[in-house]
Parts: sequence; C-alpha cells; structure tokens
Amino acid sequence: MLGERLTGVVTHGKHLVLEFSNDWIIHTHAMQYGSWQIGARREVLRKDARFVRLRIDTPKRRAVFFHGPVMEVLSRAEFATHERFHSLGPDVLHPDFEVSHVFAAIVAQRDREIGDVVLDQRVVSGIGNIYKSEGLFLAAMDPRQNASEVTFQDLEAFFAEVIPLMQAGRQRFGMIETLPDDLRYEPWMRTWVYRRRGQPCFVCGSPIRMTRQGDFQRTTYFCPQCQQTTALTQKPVCR
Ligand SMILES: [Zn+2]
Repeated sequence: MLGERLTGVVTHGKHLVLEFSNDWIIHTHAMQYGSWQIGARREVLRKDARFVRLRIDTPKRRAVFFHGPVMEVLSRAEFATHERFHSLGPDVLHPDFEVSHVFAAIVAQRDREIGDVVLDQRVVSGIGNIYKSEGLFLAAMDPRQNASEVTFQDLEAFFAEVIPLMQAGRQRFGMIETLPDDLRYEPWMRTWVYRRRGQPCFVCGSPIRMTRQGDFQRTTYFCPQCQQTTALTQKPVCR
C-alpha cells in the first residue's frame, strides 16, 4: 500500500490491528517470536532483512515487524467476521479489566486445570506461558487444580500479581524478569519458578516441579509446597 495513512491501532493481548485510510486492515500476532523495531527511517535493522514481515514508513519514522508468524491483510468486512480475533476473552492489560469480567468464564471451564485455562485466549487474553507460572506461584495457587474449584479471591490474587509483572515486562520490551534483585544471587536468575525444575524454591527450599497441561501440553513450573489448593490450606482443623 502506498500513500495511505495509518488511522488506528488496536491491541488485544498479543494481537495487533492496524487500520488504514483505504479501509484495509492488517492483523498481526507475534506468538512467541515476533518483534517490532520502531525508529528513524535510516536506523539499522536489528535483525536480518529476510526476517521482515511488514514495514511501515512515514516521512521520518519506520516500523518493522520481524518473524511474526501471523500477518494478514483484510478488508473491513473480512475483519468484522474474523472469528479468532472476535472470540478473544477480555484483555488483562486493558485499563478497564476487572476480575469479575472473567470469573464466570474461568469457573465454567470446570475440570480443566487452572494453569491451562488462564492461557486460553478465548477465556482471558494476554497471559503468556512464563507469566502464567510466575503469577500462579506468587498467588500461591496450585496450577493443577480444577477451574471450578478456584475462588474469586484466588483469581483476584493471581491477577494482582500477574498484571504488574506483565506491565513491567512491557516497559522492558518483553524482557521477562520477575525475581526481585535481592534474591538474584546469580546474574542469570530471572524467575521464581519458570525453567527452575529441580532447583530449590526461593521461599521454602522445596524442589521446583514441572508439569505439562492442556491440549497443547504447555509447561508449567510450580512449587508443590507453596502452591496448594485453597481447600487444603484453608480447611478448618477438626476438633
Ligand atoms: Zn516453595
């Protein structure tokens, strides 16, 4: 497209929708690999030119999308019926996001494990695999518990942990560091549990475990001691 103006940008999770003055729409999704470089027109490309999927030039600036596995050009009518985009759950990074918007949809997933459900973009949108493990650890939730057993308070705790982590990651252009500096006694340590299988939990010392969840068998890391179901940890003692 030549000479068109970019008239609107909408994000939803990792989906990005660019609207142009000729009524065409470009929809991209970065998956785990895509990245943008935004800078001056003469700026040297950060990656090899053969990885460029999309380039937008303005008189002074240039935006380049690398590696993105999803990139489609659609008419307005095609986009209006785009099933994948329009079936997305609420975006956790949207300023109006509230736990009450997703609680019923999460619990309705019944016997699916919560570590699987929070990655399902149709239920709640925007949480990636690393933040899932880190957020469930900080909220002390067992990732293997069924969605139907999760309480509103559990989810409030989870989103209160995971949203600031994701916002901080966005400030660092996607670099994920969830572990506080004072616990990082080795420079390569960045996470509480993610990719730490067999290593001691920073809180209790138990070995971190890894499990695979859902249809896509995504990895989830957790501490079996710190992350127990509400039912177990809050059950009143019988006298
Ligand atoms: Zn622990």
